[in-house]
Amino acid sequence: MYRICVIPGDGIGPEVMEAAILVLEAMGLDMEFFSAMAGNACFQKLGTTIPSQTIDLALQSDATLFGAVTTVPGQKSAILTLRKELDLYANLRPVKSYPGIDSLYPDLDFLIVRENTEGLYADREQYTPEGAQALRVVTRKASRRISEFAFRQAQENGFELVTVVHKANVLKKTDGIFREAFYQAAENHPEVEVEELYVDAAAMFLVKNPQRFQVLVTTNLFGDILSDEGAGLVGGLGMVPSANIGDKNSLFEPVHGSAPDIAGHNVANPTAMLLSVVMMLRHLKEEDAATKLEKALLMVLEEGRVLTPDLGGSSSTLEMAREVRGKLDSV
Ligand code: NAD
Repeated sequence: MYRICVIPGDGIGPEVMEAAILVLEAMGLDMEFFSAMAGNACFQKLGTTIPSQTIDLALQSDATLFGAVTTVPGQKSAILTLRKELDLYANLRPVKSYPGIDSLYPDLDFLIVRENTEGLYADREQYTPEGAQALRVVTRKASRRISEFAFRQAQENGFELVTVVHKANVLKKTDGIFREAFYQAAENHPEVEVEELYVDAAAMFLVKNPQRFQVLVTTNLFGDILSDEGAGLVGGLGMVPSANIGDKNSLFEPVHGSAPDIAGHNVANPTAMLLSVVMMLRHLKEEDAATKLEKALLMVLEEGRVLTPDLGGSSSTLEMAREVRGKLDSV
């Protein structure tokens, strides 16, 4: 029996989560769901964006599904806190183009591996008399750990090239350490080809020639930005899932946020959330279930009959989820 912690969050978070649970419950897996609060609505109710009960539940679960939260300036970030408390040091963001979906390129399949615990998201920001400053934290340990992880991902997923993305010409010390740790890790993986790119050049190649990429590994902020760029290549934020992985815990969430502009209209694309569920099932070693769900979803995308408005359709979030559920038996 799997214990799954479910954190719907704010805005479209609960909408895409309802879609995901609707499909998951139809899959006949031995899985129990435990709902937990986080985000802005939680703050309005309990005075905190991330109650300790939510963290405890996530710590005790086999995996966590996270929708999205609205972050109000001045409030503690629920997702950053969870990543830190659960030591989810690796953030995997696969970027793939799917048949039937209007992508800028039809043949993309690469993986962004983002360091998830430090960098400019280390939450070390303060006001100064002149303005404000943020500390960019880069440790040898975390840099080595994420680089090793990227090489393992390359091997497990049949990729032959790992690109380290940094800005060590300017950020000589922090990115100097990140780069050095990457090349140390590379020594253990002579079968994998390596290259390095400055983040500005990587951003350009992502637009101009993204097929050149297989696995990219980078620091927290760069990874965040480049993965939204990746989403833009393959149909938008509704299409890109992510996995946050640690040695003991894991959390799966769409790359998108709470999308207040469309929240409440039941038009959010559930694909990113459903693909995040696929990543969770693979992580739990439920390969057959993962493949089944992925195939059912791809069938719906390719048929193009029941799609949400961002994909050019006119269906609702739940209609698209029900269509996926309906395909489960035919794959
Ligand atoms: P966003 O990802 O919420 O939305 C950006 C644009 O993409 C919007 O136009 C939105 O309608 C569209 N979009 C996003 N997901 C979609 C989906 N599933 N289907 C169709 N369209 C979709 O980013 P934002 O507007 O910059 O941020 C909104 C809020 O979300 C902010 O409070 C931000 O802090 C928060 N946020 C949370 C997370 C998270 O919970 N992990 C991540 C990013 C942003």
